[in-house]
Amino acid sequence: MTTPSETGTADSLENLVTHVATQLMAVDAATSPGVSQQVLGQLSSSFGVDVCFLRYNDHSIRATRLIAEWPPHERDPDPLELIYFTDADPVFAAAEHAKEPVFFRPDPIPEDEYQRLVEEGTGMALTSMASVPLLSGDTTTGCIGFIKFGIKDWTPEELNALKAIASLFAQVQARVVAEDQLRYLAEHDDLTGLHNRRALLAHLDERLRVGQQGPVSVLFLDLDRLKAINDYLGHHAGDWFIQAFAQRLREETGDGDVIARLGGDEFVIVPAGSVDADAAEALAHRLQDALRDRVTIGGETLTRTVSAGVALGVPGRDTTSDLLRRADQAVLNAKNAGGNKIAVFTDEMSLRSEFRNDIELHLQNVIDTGSLILHYLPEVDMRTGEILATEALVRWQHPTRGLLLPDSFIHVAESINLAGELGRWVMRTACEEFSRWQASGIAKDAVIRINVSPVQLVADGFVQSVADTIAEFGLDGKSVCLEITESVVVQDIETTRITLAGLKEVGVRIAIDDFGTGYSVLTHLKSLPVDTLKIDKGFVLELGTNPEDLAIVRAIIALAEAFNLELVAEGVELPSAAMTLLQHGCHRAQGFLLSRPIPSDAMAELFAKGVIPVDFSVPIRN
Ligand code: C2E
Ligand code: CA
Ligand code: CA
Repeated sequence: MTTPSETGTADSLENLVTHVATQLMAVDAATSPGVSQQVLGQLSSSFGVDVCFLRYNDHSIRATRLIAEWPPHERDPDPLELIYFTDADPVFAAAEHAKEPVFFRPDPIPEDEYQRLVEEGTGMALTSMASVPLLSGDTTTGCIGFIKFGIKDWTPEELNALKAIASLFAQVQARVVAEDQLRYLAEHDDLTGLHNRRALLAHLDERLRVGQQGPVSVLFLDLDRLKAINDYLGHHAGDWFIQAFAQRLREETGDGDVIARLGGDEFVIVPAGSVDADAAEALAHRLQDALRDRVTIGGETLTRTVSAGVALGVPGRDTTSDLLRRADQAVLNAKNAGGNKIAVFTDEMSLRSEFRNDIELHLQNVIDTGSLILHYLPEVDMRTGEILATEALVRWQHPTRGLLLPDSFIHVAESINLAGELGRWVMRTACEEFSRWQASGIAKDAVIRINVSPVQLVADGFVQSVADTIAEFGLDGKSVCLEITESVVVQDIETTRITLAGLKEVGVRIAIDDFGTGYSVLTHLKSLPVDTLKIDKGFVLELGTNPEDLAIVRAIIALAEAFNLELVAEGVELPSAAMTLLQHGCHRAQGFLLSRPIPSDAMAELFAKGVIPVDFSVPIRN
């Protein structure tokens, strides 16, 4: 250890600087205060001073903040920790922009006079001080300070050493600031400055550790109608809307609450401390009231509403992803209920999401394992019973849940990007079986109808893959009909138009499925290359008893005639419905009255017979 008497020699000073450099080199944000304090201790003994300190400037609030000092002090609160330059004494005030060391030293007085002053307790008046700036380019970023209770003169060599040491401290500071900035960026959302997903996950991981206080509640907020704002008023308006919302969230939440933006219009709040379901729901209501607001963007006044989902997690039992999935599920329910609603995750939702997870898990390799099959629903001329077509309907032989109908897994497949693969399997399998039937001399003039998911229809290469498949199995395009639902056609009319034109060139037929369900495709009917309309079963099931349904069905029949389209009724369960359809001129139909969906062998047998006997002699009521 260097002692004060050794200071001043060029060698010992050089050693000191090297020693300080070695220690500061390895410092990071976390270890900086501790190591700095240690170094200050060495400096104080090397230079023979009583106090050393390290301070950083915060120019944004015009203040200097204590980072480390020697000897260590426990003052709580420390009045010297943050000093504003405007009310600082001259030594500190000078530290704001100083580029060179600043010295304060009392006028020299004889030693015995000094002793007397110290004994009187006024020795502090004789304090000498040096403040050496930390510099980063043109900015004074802080200082190291040296205080001697008495007189201290600095030699030019000592001064050089001080500057070298100050520059070492400045480097550490720059590194720590950069590190803090990086951490900030890694944990915060650019647009709003709120926490991001990563920070939220880390926070929840911590809150859900075994032994932590619970329950931990999570509020999942979803801004209603943000998409519409982006679409109609532009992304700037959307960003502004989100920022204003984030600001309001900050104002409405408590100090320890964590607010995160997961991207898009999704926000999550994790209240500090344990909060039970009732309290969390109450908080959600309070927030929803406070966040509902009228906002003016580009001259349009919009009402900002938010949907909220609430879920609770138990430390040691639930994982972060469990908890977020539940909250997500709850907010989805709130949105589906029309928005501007609050939903708390329930056991029923839990069952449903379990089912969904299970489906998702097993669906991944369902195609490889051969557990998909097709059933066929015959389509019949109700006047004669002749089988005109058959619709391929996919089923899944699930390992534990039995034979699943498409409604329970098609949506899941779409959400995990499996719709394309599944659709190609259906297309290939239906074409293969149908061509096999035709090769054996049955179903010669029949049509195979294949359902196409919305996702397939807009995917690249769809038309080509249809062309390849019918070519591979040697089918005539006219014997293959693709069914698309009405809603899809209207949602993205331009893409649909291009795809349908491509399919027409391939030569296949096109049917609009579930026709009449409300997304009126009427305005486009004339200009789209459509061959067939399938009346949605919702209008057919009660036909013969429900006059409103009849009015709609008659309108659809008239429309089909006007546009010269083939018309098929689905969902014929009752003889009265069959009779009504026949009376009004619709004779093609499918439905449980005629046949249930059947396995492919049974379908082949039916085709071999060619007809399903029809007998609607049951009296028609009303
Ligand atoms: P969809 O295209 O409207 O198919 C007709 C659905 O109505 C079938 O249900 C069929 O079993 C049912 N159905 C037929 N007649 C009657 C009846 O008289 N009464 C009643 N209540 N229902 C009847 P399924 O097989 O459960 O299919 C449901 C939906 O799943 C289909 O509706 C279709 O949109 C979709 N789907 C089926 N197979 C596929 C496929 O391979 N790919 C795609 N993307 N979707 C498919
Ligand atoms: Ca269909
Ligand atoms: Ca349908």
